Amino acid sequence: PSNRDADAAIRSTDTDASQSRLSAVRRDYLKDPFIHLLVPRAHSAPPRPPLINIGTYVRAEAIDKLVYRWLNLRVTDNRKKQVVSLGAGSDTRFWRIASSSCKERLARYVEIDFPEVTGKKAMSIRKHKELSILLGENVKIIAGGTGLSAEVYHLEPIDLRLPPESTLGVLVQNGVLDPTLPTLFIAECVFVYLRPSVSHGIVSWFTSTITGGCSGLIYEMFGLNDSFGRVMKENLRARNIEIPGVEESSALEAQLQRLFNGGIQSAQAMTLRTVRQKCISEEELSRISRLEMLDEVEELDLVLSHYVLTWGYSLPNGVTDEEREH
Ligand code: SAM
Repeated sequence: PSNRDADAAIRSTDTDASQSRLSAVRRDYLKDPFIHLLVPRAHSAPPRPPLINIGTYVRAEAIDKLVYRWLNLRVTDNRKKQVVSLGAGSDTRFWRIASSSCKERLARYVEIDFPEVTGKKAMSIRKHKELSILLGENVKIIAGGTGLSAEVYHLEPIDLRLPPESTLGVLVQNGVLDPTLPTLFIAECVFVYLRPSVSHGIVSWFTSTITGGCSGLIYEMFGLNDSFGRVMKENLRARNIEIPGVEESSALEAQLQRLFNGGIQSAQAMTLRTVRQKCISEEELSRISRLEMLDEVEELDLVLSHYVLTWGYSLPNGVTDEEREH
């Protein structure tokens, strides 16, 4: 396939992600009052099978927990924080935070994706009052309609394969990002589409630029060297979706190394299978089990063990572990 086709195939993965989320919301696994506004033709979006709905639920719960916990952490003082979502697609996290008490903690929320994706998102935001109202008064359209800039929220058309100095670096120069603020980058299902050297460059850029404490959260499929993984890869190949960043090994160590090699000081990793077993309350598990019939718990475990959440942080420059409150 040409580069154009290959990029279009990669962008189409956002439709999968947002339709899966919509499906899980419609089936009451998750609450999200915004997702239907961002999924094209939401009314005709197909429902997903129970196994996918549960997977979407576990992933969303785990990432939300980590993001909200990070927002509420006070490391050395009360400084507000900034979030950079890489390959944000149709994600609704900004609006969910902006309509919660955590909004006070946010200085900036920057979403990055291909211009075709950010352009559509910018249009949806302008079309739906429920979305635009949470951006405040001073909303500017930027980059020929493919981006938006508001007080806290920024939507930036950027190809992540370009050198970060010339893309993310410009956001710092323009004052969109403040390197002295505690910053969390989120890469949810995106590094798999980038070559390892490219995602390494991005992580390194963050850790070497952000002096106010850099945190990172990566969510990815992994361990694709078994028969299940081969089917997953074949499905992607059939859709011309290239995954140069795929991790064949199912060792959590390889995931941690990705953050450590990029300069993150402390990190943890967990598969979704472990998240479901250890981090979701009994009450929630029993609520979930009543929503839809799922007869294959073993299959669920197999699927969930092929997704991994890795997160970590570096302390602000000049701060030692002892000075940390948490
Ligand atoms: N993070 C969102 C989520 O989890 O719901 C969307 C995930 S979707 C599977 C992957 C997203 O990454 C798509 O929106 C795609 O356009 C974006 N993406 C992939 N490669 C990119 C690149 N080189 N530059 C910018 N965005 C990219």
